[in-house]
Amino acid sequence: MDYAASSPPFAEALEAQAASAREFFANPSAAHMPGCQAREQLAGLKRRFGAMCGFNDGRLVLTSGGTEANNLAINGALLLHPEGRLLMAADAHPSIINTRHVEQELIDVLPIDFAGRVTPVALAAALRPDTRLVAFSHVGNETGVVHDAVALAALCERRGVSCLIDGTQAAGHIPVDLSSITCEFYTFSAHKFGGPRGVGGIFLRSRECAPLFDGGSQEWGLRPGTENLPGLAGAVVALEQSLVAMPVESARLRRLGRDLVSELRRITADVVINGDSDNGLPGFVSASFPGYNGSKLVADLAMRGFAVATGSACHADQVEPSRTIMAMGRSPEVALGTIRISLGRHNDAGTVTEFAAVMAEILKEQEP
Ligand code: PMP
Repeated sequence: MDYAASSPPFAEALEAQAASAREFFANPSAAHMPGCQAREQLAGLKRRFGAMCGFNDGRLVLTSGGTEANNLAINGALLLHPEGRLLMAADAHPSIINTRHVEQELIDVLPIDFAGRVTPVALAAALRPDTRLVAFSHVGNETGVVHDAVALAALCERRGVSCLIDGTQAAGHIPVDLSSITCEFYTFSAHKFGGPRGVGGIFLRSRECAPLFDGGSQEWGLRPGTENLPGLAGAVVALEQSLVAMPVESARLRRLGRDLVSELRRITADVVINGDSDNGLPGFVSASFPGYNGSKLVADLAMRGFAVATGSACHADQVEPSRTIMAMGRSPEVALGTIRISLGRHNDAGTVTEFAAVMAEILKEQEP
């Protein structure tokens, strides 16, 4: 029940990855025939991946995942304009929030509302004349809230500001149509949608981007190093599988998520649901149990065979209340009692019923 942290790979994706590694092992930069074949496979896979995301007008730069992709986009946009301000959403992932490339005094925070949303009104109010880059997630990794990427990117475009959308929790889970989302940078990570670990990238429309690493001329010089061709082959097949399953799977997970929320409300009237189980990511539930300790709940659930997360897996050993939940106007007591449940394709109605029964026992045992 922790699919947002990482997801089991599709067998078809692992096979595609192995086949590519076997057949196209040559370096795509090499001048010989096997190198040329690897280069062709790389270009073909990028076209397939881009087509599935409505992206036909820019470059797809491969990286080692979402973290590096976000770092590269911020670097790309701001190293070349060191005086420019960065406006980042209060619910952004640590790979955006913890950027070291931007002076602290040049960073502004874009507030989220009580439901965890970034609204166009809030964005318009937070933009400053010297804002150079706006960064927000398409789907919040702690709340599952789906932000209005089309409207927010369009507003940035009208105001002449670059926009980075972190699609790490969105790609493979909701339709991503970059032909209508006019951002300069859209990042993703394959292990979140049943693809291999260590594979991600940026859909890049910006002309202005600087590399993070020094090296060769791969990926237009923006990401030197031999391209992870097998990883991309696995990612393409994983995205294809996700898109084929999406219509049925989204509806199924939406129902499961709603059932889970009803069960939690039945167990305790005090539960606070963060985000929106009707419009958020299907099957994603952020629930706060005021007065309880989220980490202790997660540990006890783990002892009984249930895998869920506190705020986010990236800071699982935190004792600080989640910044995102606090930014939604919750008290520290509520924020500290938060767990994140993210359902996926191997969960079913039985999972939800069993989970609710165990959760009821744990809440009784740990009663504050
Ligand atoms: N952005 C978001 C919204 C995420 O949820 C994650 C994964 N926790 C990342 C970026 C980082 O992705 P990766 O694990 O591929 O570095």
